[in-house]
Amino acid sequence: MKIAVIGCGYLGAVHAAAMASLGFDTVGVDVDASKVERLGRGEPPFFEPGLPELLRAGVGAGRLRFTTDVAEAAGSDVVFIAVGTPQLPGSDAADLAFVDAAIASLEPHLGAGMLVVGKSTVPVGTAARLAEVVRPTGARLAWNPEFLREGFAVQDTLAPDRLVYGVEPGDDAAVERLDAVYASVLERGTERLVLDFATAELVKVSANAFLATKISFINAMAELAETVGADVTLLADAIGLDARIGRRFLNAGLGFGGGCLPKDIRAFQARASELGHADTLAFLGEVDRINLRRRDRMAALIERELDAVGGDRVAMLGLAFKPDSDDVRDSPALDVCRHLQRAGRSVVGFDPQARETAGRVLPSLEIAGSVADAVRGADVLALGTEWRDFRELDPVEVAQWTQARVVVDGRNTLDAARWSAAGFRVVGLGKPEVQ
Ligand code: NAD
Repeated sequence: MKIAVIGCGYLGAVHAAAMASLGFDTVGVDVDASKVERLGRGEPPFFEPGLPELLRAGVGAGRLRFTTDVAEAAGSDVVFIAVGTPQLPGSDAADLAFVDAAIASLEPHLGAGMLVVGKSTVPVGTAARLAEVVRPTGARLAWNPEFLREGFAVQDTLAPDRLVYGVEPGDDAAVERLDAVYASVLERGTERLVLDFATAELVKVSANAFLATKISFINAMAELAETVGADVTLLADAIGLDARIGRRFLNAGLGFGGGCLPKDIRAFQARASELGHADTLAFLGEVDRINLRRRDRMAALIERELDAVGGDRVAMLGLAFKPDSDDVRDSPALDVCRHLQRAGRSVVGFDPQARETAGRVLPSLEIAGSVADAVRGADVLALGTEWRDFRELDPVEVAQWTQARVVVDGRNTLDAARWSAAGFRVVGLGKPEVQ
């Protein structure tokens, strides 16, 4: 079977490499020539654990190649669409220009027997609209939303929790084709749900809306905990023991960011409003506001601590929106750096993988090459991303590198007792301070 993947970013590059690893002859297509060139050498243009090995194996075996020429998708059995659907500037809605451009460029190369499979996250109604565009070519369309998490993208692609196929009524051929693509995933006993277009599209955005709500729920509890002297981590442990609630995704802290959750909950609200359901999803506006308030709170705590020691310089450990990724799209940590810079503070950042991406997005930020360099000369330390590297730092060693004696832990992830024993005061979000 021949597979093409249009759009080779965080989703598409991983998907293309995974398809090749399943034995398919795969071509990845992207409009970004430098990305294509790097991928063609078997070199990922971003950090993702496990991807370099998968890419090199596919390229080395001659099963995986990359091109800027969409004509090379011609004759593919399946063409996946994995282009971006970012927030439209000046609006909450999703920008579908990349999806529309990808389909338009693909159209002359489509023919009978080909299946176009959307993976990008789109507003409900998009698949039905695009099916009409594709139909005259003789090709068919399906929507197969993607649930991968950056940092676990390879594993999530090859061993997902579930596969969702959105197909037109009675399109058994599309289901059979997708089953053939995912045969080895299905063999693992993975749940596969065959749904209509609208339900499949809604599964993706409602899953993200639910996850965002869960995070903002516990962050709302953190706001209250800060006022009454309660500990939000112990609270999450206690309510999480109820199997109906569950402990996962209940970590209070700096909140969510990245290229998905924030823009997806906004686009979902925008689409609901278009459909006459503005009130139905109004709560997602509150979810968004609670999330963004955590960034203000963290910046305020850092400023309070700087003022308390008469200092001005903060070291932000972690710049990526989440650990095990170099993605800084809508990164909460970077946003806090921005707040502090605007307040006239001196900020130095460090991240194990996101130094380059952070430097591109916030060129005014001083970026250190190591934790030791970042904390040297800092008055306050802050933790913005819960990388394992930071959790494993030896606070006794850190105390030798810096005069700072306070850490604002934006992810409630440090072992406060250990840091306290090494002479640091640990300030968490929604937690009593550990002296
Ligand atoms: P990305 O910005 O990293 O990648 C998009 C890629 O598409 C870029 O490389 C861009 O150059 C390319 N592109 C744009 N227009 C093109 C065109 N006309 N033809 C060919 N290539 C084109 O974005 P991403 O994070 O990979 O997300 C892609 C989609 O997947 C989005 O809809 C996103 O919401 C969804 N998604 C992402 C994740 C994730 O964790 N990143 C998870 C699930 C779903």
